[in-house]
Amino acid sequence: GDRTDTLLQTDGLVKRFGGFTATDSVDFSVDEGELRCLIGPNGAGKSTLLKLIVGTLEPSAGRIYYDGQEITDMEPNERVRNGISMKFQVPSVYGDLSVRENARLPVQQFADGAERRRRVDEAIEDAGLAGYEDVPASALSHGQQQQLEIGMAASLDPDLLLLDEPVAGLSVDERTEIAERIRRLNREEGIAFIVIEHDTDFVGEIADSVTVLHRGDVFREGSIEEIESDPEVRRIYLGG
Ligand code: ADP
Ligand code: MG
Repeated sequence: GDRTDTLLQTDGLVKRFGGFTATDSVDFSVDEGELRCLIGPNGAGKSTLLKLIVGTLEPSAGRIYYDGQEITDMEPNERVRNGISMKFQVPSVYGDLSVRENARLPVQQFADGAERRRRVDEAIEDAGLAGYEDVPASALSHGQQQQLEIGMAASLDPDLLLLDEPVAGLSVDERTEIAERIRRLNREEGIAFIVIEHDTDFVGEIADSVTVLHRGDVFREGSIEEIESDPEVRRIYLGG
């Protein structure tokens, strides 16, 4: 097929917290339109890596390139304008605000007028929350809240969408809905993804490719079949 272009690349990316190295010289890349899952044991550095990419954490060393330019020192808002958006592991919806008020929060910095309204409506519709606009977010199910958060991240019109544990704690049906949504955004809008998720059934349903992170560095990369059948990958999950 056609040669695919690299969308994102990290070069020797390091993040230290005091004397502890959370991300240890990571070389990692994502192609345009690729759907990559990032797995690895707790504490492997997965969330840290995504925060470095979206710019809410500053690296201790190394470089990040996106769409042909270096973005290592670029402000987070500027990265959003360039097409990088993230749903964080820790929930960021406000329970006492309505669905519409929540949906407005990320968009309002980046669009106004009719364009803002269009994006807010689309985020709500895509999240399957039409009719729930005036409901306080605290009244939504956990699955609906995750759908709202994904909609809020997607409303920033990204080319690269980072999702940190979008289905943790959800039912099988809710997982299926979110898997379908991610695939639709990937196929119909060409959005590239990095999705952190532990559940290998879910990863197998959505991923083009899988990266395993272990002790702050890339341990393996491959298809879900290659990763699942790798005894060394099993060993690190058992604490080796
Ligand atoms: P994962 O998402 O793979 O579970 P994280 O990236 O959240 O792992 O964390 C990697 C390591 O870095 C963990 O040992 C964690 O305790 C540590 N860490 C993460 N954020 C901070 C922080 N702000 N300050 C100190 N240590 C941190
Ligand atoms: Mg994490």
